[in-house]
Amino acid sequence: MSEEKLLFEGKVVSIQPRIRLMRSFDERSHSYLGYALWVNGVIGSTAREFSIGIGKSIHAKYNFVVGDKISGACMAVVDVRQEPVDYYKVSKIKKIGQSMKELDNNPPWLGIPPSLEEYRHRGHRRLSSRTYETSCRTCIWGCKMPVEIIVDNWNPSRRQYRFEKFCYGPISCKLYKAGATRKVPGRNGMSYEELDWVDEEETGHRSLEE
Ligand code: SF4
Repeated sequence: MSEEKLLFEGKVVSIQPRIRLMRSFDERSHSYLGYALWVNGVIGSTAREFSIGIGKSIHAKYNFVVGDKISGACMAVVDVRQEPVDYYKVSKIKKIGQSMKELDNNPPWLGIPPSLEEYRHRGHRRLSSRTYETSCRTCIWGCKMPVEIIVDNWNPSRRQYRFEKFCYGPISCKLYKAGATRKVPGRNGMSYEELDWVDEEETGHRSLEE
């Protein structure tokens, strides 16, 4: 991909938190980068769907929702293993059309995504990749996280990369499917399996409908 800034314009088809996960065996930590917008429109001279990463201050200023029309300039992501989006370093962003979409109270939820602090407070459960792709790509509670795994703490250059999907939404969501448990590779061929209790502990402070 080119390193020049490209102009873009199009309609927002999804907006989700943009969060990176670092794993080291049974330990994990998150970096809250901002928000990921999937846009159906034109980037450079190509018409297609593409994704762009924005920071939390841009989101707080514009409160983007699905259906808004936006324009701006952005740059192709250099390390695609560490970003859930195709483009970032957005400038000149504008909302050129307001969404007229009526929101209902059914999943997937399409309103204005909350603050990153609220995502952090809510906590997440693992989400089946297939369910994410078929039902959750437009939901504000879905999240596709780039994951960096430090396989060996004694040799931190040994890293692996992958993507995992998570749900920050209501525990009662009828579309939710956990999918298989996740395994994290460690030293000397060991592996840590993240069992259901991790998700239960992370989201146990919420009621079923929250
Ligand atoms: S499972 Fe989660 S991400 Fe998917 S629709 Fe329900 S709340 Fe949204």
